[in-house]
Amino acid sequence: MEPLLLENARLVLPDADAWSPLPAGAVLVDGARIAAVAADAGGVEAIRRRAASRIDLAGRVLMPGLVNAHYHSYGTVVRGTENSLPLEQWALYTVAYGRSLDDEGIQTAILLGAAEMLRAGVTSTIDHFAHAGRVDTALDAHHRSGMRVGFAPMLHDRFDHDLLGIDLPPELRRRVEGPKRPGAADMAALFRRIHAQWHGRDGRIALLLGPNAPQRCSPGLWMAWAELAAELGVHVHTHLLETQAQASIGLRHWRDGMIAEMARHGLVNDRLSVAHAIWTAPEERKLLADSGVTVVHNPVSNLMLGSGFAPVADYRARGVALGLGSDGSNTGGRHDLFEVMRLAMMLPRATTADPAAWPDARETLGWATAGGARALGMARDIGRIAAGYRADLTVVDMDGAAEAPLTLNLAALAQHATPACVRATMVDGRWAYRDGRILAFDEPAVLQRFAAMRERIVAASKPEVATAAEAVPHFAKLPGRC
Ligand SMILES: [Zn+2]
Repeated sequence: MEPLLLENARLVLPDADAWSPLPAGAVLVDGARIAAVAADAGGVEAIRRRAASRIDLAGRVLMPGLVNAHYHSYGTVVRGTENSLPLEQWALYTVAYGRSLDDEGIQTAILLGAAEMLRAGVTSTIDHFAHAGRVDTALDAHHRSGMRVGFAPMLHDRFDHDLLGIDLPPELRRRVEGPKRPGAADMAALFRRIHAQWHGRDGRIALLLGPNAPQRCSPGLWMAWAELAAELGVHVHTHLLETQAQASIGLRHWRDGMIAEMARHGLVNDRLSVAHAIWTAPEERKLLADSGVTVVHNPVSNLMLGSGFAPVADYRARGVALGLGSDGSNTGGRHDLFEVMRLAMMLPRATTADPAAWPDARETLGWATAGGARALGMARDIGRIAAGYRADLTVVDMDGAAEAPLTLNLAALAQHATPACVRATMVDGRWAYRDGRILAFDEPAVLQRFAAMRERIVAASKPEVATAAEAVPHFAKLPGRC
């Protein structure tokens, strides 16, 4: 590909503050990377001469592609299913629907999710992936999606009912637990194989270890987690202390709580990202801050499941690295990082009176871009518009009736932009979405395929969903919120 100049743009640059007008300028894309950035007339003229072709962005915003740092792809084909229960009970349903998906269901889910995200300005995601038997088909779909993905296959061999001390009748327990899971050695072998085959493919696929949650992994899996992380140098992504019940489990099982125990096993470091982290104690937050862990905040999912308010103001005060995520479609709803940013900005205002503790537009945009890049292990590659970074870019039109600001700055962008404002999305120097069309793959065909499989998914999930409904009352007496 020849050097392409994106000119007449309003640039979101790393050093911007919330209130200053976005500078007018241009970005030169050469191959997969940003070759140069200019935010003054002389600079633009100089890089213009290096361009083989030019696109006039007509004053639209050019920002780093958004990073959805916590997502479960299969959820996109089970929208409209149960979301009126707390996590532990809701999880029975999401597992039930998930088990009913075949290879085609998983591929369709991934491409539907990619279409939604690319249209919403999201260029990268971490797919915390639950189906060990379908990792190859999933990676193939991610590769075709045109997106950048951190693929984190889940490791888990312990069940919530055991952890919570819920005594299910043996026959119901057998159905809830489903087919026997692969052991630690088999999961480690599977991870080594897909890492060798896929990690770094086209610069767009990264393999991450994906323990489901620390308490859902046996000591054998903790050991495999530590060994694989050391051997392969990969980043790790896990759920952490999402509900109060999980915090109680942590304190019951480990003297100083879950995070201290993880630290004793060498699992808490700057390659770890943790989703939710709502029910952390102050000393645990200090440990996360001191260790350089990225906390991925999922405010929409947290509210929908009634899980609680993540202590974002405290994380921010302690200097904890933050990213943002949408979680699954069947909990967090839309993969709309603009909505997630707005909530991340607003929620601390409801729980903390001091305005100095409230994150501003600059910070929340940073969490949705550079923060997510850090969780993916790509902090030096994506999340910023800067020379040498990969060309993951989003074009946003702020001229509509609902958006047109008096001053076009980060505050206006974070507070007023929506996915409907996104005009184009570029991943690794290629347009993946532009002028209303997904260019990376055949979106209408994916929608058609989904329409044809809906009834099949509903029928296939019926027995498992009935099992979930039968198990729910056993989970009713969990610790409540303070
Ligand atoms: Zn999740």
